[in-house]
Amino acid sequence: MLLVVVTAAGRSERFGGGKKELELIEGRSVLDRAVSLFLGLPDLAYLVITGPRDQLGAMLGKLGPATHAALGSRFSIIPGGPSRRDSVRLGLEAAARALSPPESRGKGGLPEKLDNAIVLVHDGARPWASTELAARVASAAAEKGAAVPLVPLSDTPKSISPDGLITAHPKRSTLAAAQTPQGFRFGGLLDAHRRAAAENYECTDDAELWAHYIGPVSWVEGEAMNRKITYRSDLGNPEIRVGQGWDLHRLVSGRRLLLGGVEIPSELGEEAHSDGDVLLHAVIDALLGAASLGDIGTHFPPEDSSWKDADSRSLTKTVLGLVHAAGWSIVNIDCTVTLEAPKLGPLKEAVRRSLASVLGIDADTVSVKAKTSEGVNAAGELRAIEASAVVLLRR
Ligand code: MG
Repeated sequence: MLLVVVTAAGRSERFGGGKKELELIEGRSVLDRAVSLFLGLPDLAYLVITGPRDQLGAMLGKLGPATHAALGSRFSIIPGGPSRRDSVRLGLEAAARALSPPESRGKGGLPEKLDNAIVLVHDGARPWASTELAARVASAAAEKGAAVPLVPLSDTPKSISPDGLITAHPKRSTLAAAQTPQGFRFGGLLDAHRRAAAENYECTDDAELWAHYIGPVSWVEGEAMNRKITYRSDLGNPEIRVGQGWDLHRLVSGRRLLLGGVEIPSELGEEAHSDGDVLLHAVIDALLGAASLGDIGTHFPPEDSSWKDADSRSLTKTVLGLVHAAGWSIVNIDCTVTLEAPKLGPLKEAVRRSLASVLGIDADTVSVKAKTSEGVNAAGELRAIEASAVVLLRR
């Protein structure tokens, strides 16, 4: 006989808004995935989910129809406790009540079949564990009493002290990281949890509790894909942001006309403190806007003489560095230049390639369009040139 406790009673404090188990991954909730991996186990008798008291309804609603159909009445969703340890104990107690015949309840000991059952305790925030892993853990727990899936550490571990010093350099090969589901003989784990609650014994997981009250814990190979969701980025869905930029420069004689770093043959050029590349200025503002990093004036104030005749390509690269440092990369960029004359047509492709090169991205993700202003307003009267840009960022 197999029981499962899925814990999801935490407040998702590091997740940055919302409850992580309720988020969707390709149309199914994290919780539904974490629960449904157990449905393929042939001897599954009962499953308990623990959640925050005020979110049990929302959690129930996020279990998919296939999961509801497969579990039928073989599950319950109950309020967890203040700590993970409390929640697991409450889940075990709920499973014991659900599976004990009414006549044996309140008589202390568990029915023998329940005492010897295997229980798998799983984090509701681990949606990618496989049914094969759950089966492997359950089978090892049936043989050895307790079993935990482990994965090798990819980073080199250090023992540390709070004052900023490394106190020991343990060998990486002697250490491993514990995952869930962790499997135990039901009677033993319930007993250990009752004693831990009575003594207020603090522990991080059930393996530690079993080792403290019952005995050795065996291990099986875990799964690299069985990651735990802690931060929103762990969901794998990239965060995306759109940014918009616009700029205008007067057209005067005696200045170069630069667009995206390409010099356009023209009698008139852009008047500016810097080299005046109106397209790159619009792109800079779009990048800064998408990343919420201010605007071109805050980074390169016109009153600062160091930007006189500055190459706008290097300004763009500086801004790109800030955007990258914040974790963002460009998905695509689309620009429009408004210029009455000369006709940009033949040079548009060179501008597009130059812009892609400055931004360090494939030219397929860069678009440059050209328009005239139909003879009206400053651009139409050849007194000015305008450019606008829209950029999409992801991280
Ligand atoms: Mg400008």
